[in-house]
Amino acid sequence: MPTTKFDKESIKKSIVGKVQRYNGLTIEEATKQQVYRAVASTVRDQIMQKYMVSREERKKSKKKRLYYLSVEFLMGRSMYTNMLNLVSSKEYTEALQELGIDIKELLKEEPEPGLGNGGLGRLAACFMDSLSSLDLPAMGCTIRYEYGLFRQKIVDGQQVELPDSWLDNGNAWESAVMQDTCEIHFGGHVEEVEINGQKKYVTRDYYTVEAVPYDMPIVGYDTATVNPLRMWSARSPKKIDLNSFGEGRYIQASEEIELAETISKVLYPEDKHYEGKMLRLKQHYFFVSASLQYIIKEFKKAFGNDFARLPDKVVIHINDTHPGMAIPELMRILMDEEGLGWDEASAIVQKTVAYTNHTIMAEALEKWPVNMVENLLPRCYQIICEMNRRLCERLWNSFPGDWDRIAHMALVSYDNVHMANMCVAMSYSVNGVSQLHGEILKSDTFHDYYKVMPEKFCAITNGITHRRWLMSCNPGLTNLIYDSIGDGWVREPERLSELLPFADDAAFRDKFDQIKHQNKERLAALLRERQGAIVDPDFIFDVQAKRLHEYKRQMLNALHILVLYNRIVNDENFTMEPRLFVFGAKASPGYYRAKQIIRMICALSSLIEKHPRARKMLQVVFLENYDVSSAEVLIPAAEVSEQLSTASKEASGTGNMKFMMNGAVTIGTMDGANVEISEQVGMENIYIFGMRSDTVLDMYREHSYNPMSIFESNQEIRLALVDVVVGYIGFQLLKDRCGLGLSYPALYLPEQHFSSPSFFSGIVGSYG
Ligand SMILES: *Cc1c(COP(=O)(O)O)cnc(C)c1O
Repeated sequence: MPTTKFDKESIKKSIVGKVQRYNGLTIEEATKQQVYRAVASTVRDQIMQKYMVSREERKKSKKKRLYYLSVEFLMGRSMYTNMLNLVSSKEYTEALQELGIDIKELLKEEPEPGLGNGGLGRLAACFMDSLSSLDLPAMGCTIRYEYGLFRQKIVDGQQVELPDSWLDNGNAWESAVMQDTCEIHFGGHVEEVEINGQKKYVTRDYYTVEAVPYDMPIVGYDTATVNPLRMWSARSPKKIDLNSFGEGRYIQASEEIELAETISKVLYPEDKHYEGKMLRLKQHYFFVSASLQYIIKEFKKAFGNDFARLPDKVVIHINDTHPGMAIPELMRILMDEEGLGWDEASAIVQKTVAYTNHTIMAEALEKWPVNMVENLLPRCYQIICEMNRRLCERLWNSFPGDWDRIAHMALVSYDNVHMANMCVAMSYSVNGVSQLHGEILKSDTFHDYYKVMPEKFCAITNGITHRRWLMSCNPGLTNLIYDSIGDGWVREPERLSELLPFADDAAFRDKFDQIKHQNKERLAALLRERQGAIVDPDFIFDVQAKRLHEYKRQMLNALHILVLYNRIVNDENFTMEPRLFVFGAKASPGYYRAKQIIRMICALSSLIEKHPRARKMLQVVFLENYDVSSAEVLIPAAEVSEQLSTASKEASGTGNMKFMMNGAVTIGTMDGANVEISEQVGMENIYIFGMRSDTVLDMYREHSYNPMSIFESNQEIRLALVDVVVGYIGFQLLKDRCGLGLSYPALYLPEQHFSSPSFFSGIVGSYG
């Protein structure tokens, strides 16, 4: 196969040629977006050459392939990562420079595909990068949401959500794979029929939605492997036919089409929270069924009907329980379509599916009302009930007479289908995402399952790709590391420990400081451009960036700032090292308290701004629209990384790792991967505070949480909290609730605020 070269001159020629062919323009005449398309298309040509070789190689070698099913992939922009992983970033940078194109500006032309909420989706994206970079054959499977996570604006100190229509200018990296389009069936009813003396189950009167796959190639760093991320898009099989015009059914037909296409319209914006909504269940089954049909089709091409080999050739990994319907769906395909018996199919499923749990919080554990599953997926529901019957029979032998325990472990109980139980019962691996989280799964969340099937449980701590979170986002630090220890760490990131001797090297530390300062200036420029915020790069940059959640305790951080403010205001001799607190966080649109916390942070910011002495030492900025692209500017500029979750609640965290990798000091609780970070860096190099996880869990069991005693005994905390309720901050928080007639100071004291433990949830743990 002839391959095109991608040296500097060929790259230039390709870009110029594409702008000419697509737009009939010269580079000078073309818009930034047109130039972006031409450059992306050139990078894509280079990827596609590898992609074809990689695909042929996989087909020949018939190696085992991982299918990573996730309802979210928070990929971030692709152009620079692709250049980097093709080991061509130097060639592209120089080529663009010679064409008079500013690469930094060009990269901003790419819309960020925000197909995820936070850590869970970003983990999936980091895995894709790593799988290709480790030459492991894999495919990511997800939904091609037309609208990703909302874009966030702060207006009058409050979050406003705007739609994220990221596909407006098309997606330069994807291509539709029409030949893999398949049908997804919903609804109907199941009939038992006999065919050649064999009992069979067929679903009748279902309705059909088509699933059209779009593949995005994921390049490995200097490897031959290119793996696809497959995004399924929903399409109605109905076409508007011209006759319906005459018959007046045009509107009805177009409504039906719209209904089908709603399935891949928008990403649910809840992080670590689910709602038992029909549309969400449809989304899950839609992409799971499409992915499984494809998996089986591919398997049969290579291995015929030898399904006993499926577990040797395929792993289906389900990222949290969202794709859990893969379990009954694989049973259905193996039995109803491929003719296997129950025992055979069930044994295959239990050797093929692996499950990762991401949280122990009750509100995130999915359960679907029985009538919803039965109506939408009648055959899957039957299969779930039969799996449940067999499971409970087995549990009865382990726990005779213990009905409560069995109900707690069942797949179907109290009119709900319990997804986590199904995933634990039916996969070969149940993974926790940090050592601590793995232990809590065994001792707490799935304790009863652990007693019956201990061999399944494992804990593989989450990770991040250093290619994006160091090499791509922090070129200054990357070059300093090259100069200090060479480039062995690029392929073996553990070798970053070779930097250890430089800890006391004055010249190294000087250079590190300079780089940090440059990164702070880069962030300052972003804040100025995006939202007109002016910050001083000589302040300490103290950052908390992650989804807004009570358990992540942005509130605790805010109260600490309020305490600092009070110290300044109440003592005119008080001084401190000037410190900028940056928050980046989206709140789920329906999460009222989270939105109130954003208001509190913004109110705090303006309160400090108004005080001539406080503003010299203290500043608060709320960075709008925290996403992967802004994380790539924010994190390299951070000197302090805030990881404050109530111990036991953050299963792992990956933000903590990104900050660490960019040389920020962590202040945090002994939660998730913070525990392992503290073991790696040593307790003298991390600021750990607060209750330990076992203490928190004991307090829950004993109902012994009493924040009021802290309120009563700690004067600074009391002062800060009273500010929140009755002072300027309280006024800001209550403004629109009390109507315009109310003047500051607002003496509106809602009784329940004092008695509700969650109001104080930010306090216990830090001072407890
Ligand atoms: C890494 C990342 C997260 C996860 O951060 P945590 O601190 O682990 O919750 C969320 N959002 C974005 C954009 C990220 O890059």
